[in-house]
Amino acid sequence: MTTTVLGYPRIGSDRELKRACESYWKGDIPAAELDSVTSWLRRTTWQTLREAGIDAIPSNTFSNYDHVLDTAVLFDLVPARFATIGAAADTDDREAELRRYFAMARGADAAPPLEMTKWFDTNYHYLVPELTPHTRPRLAGRKPLSEYVQAKGLGIETRPVLVGPLTLLMLAKPGAEAPEGWQPLELLDDLVACYGELLDQLAAAGVSWVQFDEPILVTDAGQAALQELERAYSRLGGATQRPSIAVMTYFGTVGAQALDIFKQMPIEGVGLDFTTPETRSDLVRVSGLGGKTLFAGVVDGRNVWRADIPATLATLSSLLGLAGEVVVSTSCSLLHVPIDLARETELDPVLRERLAFARQKLDEVGLLGRAMAGDATAENELERARARAAQPTPKSFIDSRVRARLESLGGKDARPDYAQRSKEEIAKLPLLPTTTIGSFPQTSKVRSARAAHRAGRIDDQEYERRMRAEIDRVIALQEDIGLDVLVHGEPERNDMVQYFAERLDGYATTKHGWVQSYGSRYVRPPILYGDVSRPSPITVGWSTYAQSRTDKPVKGMLTGPVTMLAWSFVRDDQPLGDTARQVALALRDEVTDLERAGIRHIQVDEAALRELLPLREKEHSDYLEWAVGSFRIATSGVADSTVIHSHMCYSEFGRIVSAIDSLDADVTSVEAARSHMELVDDLAAAGYRRGIGPGVYDIHSPRVPSVAEIETSLRAALNGVEAARLWVNPDCGLKTRSYADIEPALRNMVEATRRVRAEL
Ligand code: GLN
Ligand code: ZN
Repeated sequence: MTTTVLGYPRIGSDRELKRACESYWKGDIPAAELDSVTSWLRRTTWQTLREAGIDAIPSNTFSNYDHVLDTAVLFDLVPARFATIGAAADTDDREAELRRYFAMARGADAAPPLEMTKWFDTNYHYLVPELTPHTRPRLAGRKPLSEYVQAKGLGIETRPVLVGPLTLLMLAKPGAEAPEGWQPLELLDDLVACYGELLDQLAAAGVSWVQFDEPILVTDAGQAALQELERAYSRLGGATQRPSIAVMTYFGTVGAQALDIFKQMPIEGVGLDFTTPETRSDLVRVSGLGGKTLFAGVVDGRNVWRADIPATLATLSSLLGLAGEVVVSTSCSLLHVPIDLARETELDPVLRERLAFARQKLDEVGLLGRAMAGDATAENELERARARAAQPTPKSFIDSRVRARLESLGGKDARPDYAQRSKEEIAKLPLLPTTTIGSFPQTSKVRSARAAHRAGRIDDQEYERRMRAEIDRVIALQEDIGLDVLVHGEPERNDMVQYFAERLDGYATTKHGWVQSYGSRYVRPPILYGDVSRPSPITVGWSTYAQSRTDKPVKGMLTGPVTMLAWSFVRDDQPLGDTARQVALALRDEVTDLERAGIRHIQVDEAALRELLPLREKEHSDYLEWAVGSFRIATSGVADSTVIHSHMCYSEFGRIVSAIDSLDADVTSVEAARSHMELVDDLAAAGYRRGIGPGVYDIHSPRVPSVAEIETSLRAALNGVEAARLWVNPDCGLKTRSYADIEPALRNMVEATRRVRAEL
């Protein structure tokens, strides 16, 4: 049985890609130097895969920024505003090409970047192609071909990977000039012709297999477009001179109908994800694939746990003889996991031996391939794998007290009905109370104090002194600006999830476990491995200190259970909902401790509530039930006068709009600045009758909004909600901004509020 993976991390084991890109953007290195770093990164990856014994090695999985952007540029799907960028007479072609490419990703003077959004339900973000009826797809680049040729020059035969036409178009959006109702999918035939031209070129260069990624097929929208799928691949497969075509699906099940269509299509291979309970339902259906090669995604490409080798071998054996050749593969690209566990020397060995990062997953795929081929060299490793699989969950992962507490919680996740709650804390505030979302700018002073403390260069006392000085400053500034509900500014937090993960039992954090979030932004998701509890209070000291410095109320600030899971690697041995409830219980302790310490407003951020929404609608209600339930466990331990706030970083709630109400928070702040307060109406229509803080200005841009602009937003909001329920705040935390932009912006926000209040 042969082996492959669907893709590999491209950032480099020492984040070389980030450093090279950022230097290039600053103008510190020329294009040629960036290119030489990236050429080295590709070579290293292919060699790593070859040394690990992977038989079929993918290429064109590298990207300078994002693979969807690469594909858009390859087919010249470039909005007009970028057309002339880089075209100055004094730039060479490569420099010009890169300037335009990065302008699409990051924006340039008069050209805002493409929108960025999440790649399915992962934490990777791609750039959304913008298309109109005037878009003329054409094969305008050579990237897949050049990478193939580069690998071939190293003696490595590869399988170029492309985002498939259906997925590309269904992830694109109509550009502003497109007429109402026009859909990018209308470009399918034109685009497929370009893919066909590319296949010709690849065949001529000697390519034998090409991989088309079509993860859109695991979504409801993809399922509704199976006819288009068939049309596209009938055309592509119909060519006489072409490489073999494999269509890969991942992140879920494709179902019987899609498999039927795959069978009809003139393609040679199909990739299926077999790593979740739902996707295993596709196992029994693969006989429907006829003689096509099956790329069996049995090693989880997006979580960090070792594969259960004996169980996986059983799965692979059950596939034999059902379809054509079976290739052992990962469920998706390894882009979503850190590169190498070998570097995590400080992890608890009990945990470490249960983990596999990208490099270790190559070994697992290799072992499975050798074991299936009956290779004698696999015997010893198999023996070890069997022993490991037979081991029970380590005692240190289990906390029976957590489980008992959850069980005994019973119905205690409900507060008195919202309408009946005392509103005394809110009554102390003026109408249209002003506040912020939590973080204040993380200055270099704050960052270096944290770094010095981590490295042991300053002791706890000195660290506390510096953080308190920062809190003093932030409180004084907020008082001076005239805000009504203050925050401590979160200077002690590196990241809203990692900070809590480091302080909860059941969570581990890594030193080098970087994963690309988008472009040159990488994150180190914590690993939630066991039952979660809170050994001691986390935020209480900082919040009470801040409260001691002012007579205004200070809002406590926590990260909610769903977000704590969404931005971590989580255990896969129990339902997500159970894990969320455990995290919620730990937060519940923090919430009640904050209240006991005199904090009257407590915000629980659920930035990722919508992100984690399953790709299939039929799974939504289950998800929302545990997501909402865990928020309520976290927040229902308080007196009814304590004001619970929630915050969400988006405004298009879509299907979760009614869930926002079920959270039972007293006030919810959301992003709204870019959508003209429309969501105030959406929420009202869904029956939302609580406090609402639609972000009145966009913190994602350094632009300082004028008083008049903010007044206009507030008046627009007041059309949909009565003054007694309206809060005034920016649309997200201020951590990434500088004081030079936030100070005037907040002053304008307070001034605009005063003017609107005067008319009430
Ligand atoms: N309280 C957090 C902050 O202000 C919320 C961040 C977020 O919503 N992403 O930074
Ligand atoms: Zn936010």
